[in-house]
Formats: sequence, C-alpha cells, structure tokens
Amino acid sequence: MPAIGVLALQGDVREHLLALEEAGARARPVRRLAEIEAVDGLVIPGGESTTLWRLTAAFDLLDPLRKLIAGGLPAFGSCAGMIMLAERLEDGAEGQQTLGGIDMTVRRNAFGRQVDSFEREVAIAGEPFRAVFIRAPWVERAGPAVDVIGEDEGRIIAVRQGTLLATAFHPELTPDRRIHELFVSMVKGTS
Ligand code: GLN
Repeated sequence: MPAIGVLALQGDVREHLLALEEAGARARPVRRLAEIEAVDGLVIPGGESTTLWRLTAAFDLLDPLRKLIAGGLPAFGSCAGMIMLAERLEDGAEGQQTLGGIDMTVRRNAFGRQVDSFEREVAIAGEPFRAVFIRAPWVERAGPAVDVIGEDEGRIIAVRQGTLLATAFHPELTPDRRIHELFVSMVKGTS
C-alpha cells in the first residue's frame, strides 16, 4: 500500500485522509518537509488557496514543494489544491503564488462566491460523477501535455498531467471513491 500524505496546513484534511484509506492507501497528515519527503504521494486539500500559499511560504515549504512536484512527486489537488498545482492563475490575490506542476491557467472563484456552491453530476472520463463545488475554480486553458478528464457545461473541471491530478470539485466530500482510487493507482504506477 502506498503512503500518501495530506498537506495539513489548512482545508479539509480529515476527509481526504478517510477517502484515501478507503481507496487503498496508508494516509497521514503531513506538515514538515521531512514528513512530505517520506511519502509516495501528496494530496493538497480544498480550503482557501491564498491561505495555503501564505502558510506554505511562512513554513518555508513553497520552494521545496515546487521542487518535489517538479521532480516527480505524485500530487492530487482538489479545489484550492487545483489552484496550487496551476502554473498560472487568473483572479489570484495580489502576489499569489502557486506550486505549479500542471501546465494550465486556473481561474479562481470562477463559478461564483461561496453562496454559489452547488452539487451536480459531471462527466469524469465519460462516466457520470456527482461533484460538489464550493467557490470552485475552473481551468481556463490547458497546455498540450494536459489530459482533460472532466468537464461540466463546457468548462474543464478535472485534469491529469503525468502523475499530477487536479479537480475543481471536492471528491473527498462525497462517498464515490473513483477519483481517490485513480490517484492511488497513479502513485502505485499502475495508471
Ligand atoms: N475559492 C477558494 C480559493 O481560492 C477555493 C475554495 C475551495 O477550495 N473550496 O482557494
């Protein structure tokens, strides 16, 4: 079983830990660089990307995490985590930085403000998937190396690039484990 860390600075860490365990991983919260270096894959949870940015910077994790991700550490980001994995942002806060890794431009709060949070069926790899969106981003543009795996009304809401995976929605908040299972198989190298 692969060991997968959930970046535990802010956001819905516990829900990802449970989802990963159900998907066949050994999951643990990680905060310190040594803890992150010891796992086979990393989940960046939903929450607030400006807070994640400020906290990763405050804990001197921004550059080390960038290097780990660029160097091949498998990573999965949901919502704010998708924003963190984007190479480029639209509607970012002043000076907002990301970890990058996926050749995409992500628009923050694209679907509207908190009040516009919603749940609906989307298509993931051609299959229906019930998805929860909370002040969600979408992918404005994706480079040629990016596989679009999910769309909602013509908007890109799930992508994969090599061993990096990102969803605009929160699969950790619903019982369907297919996204976490996909990530676990990416970490194992079987998908
Ligand atoms: N809008 C938030 C941000 O910019 C993301 C919301 C979420 O992760 N649910 O980080």
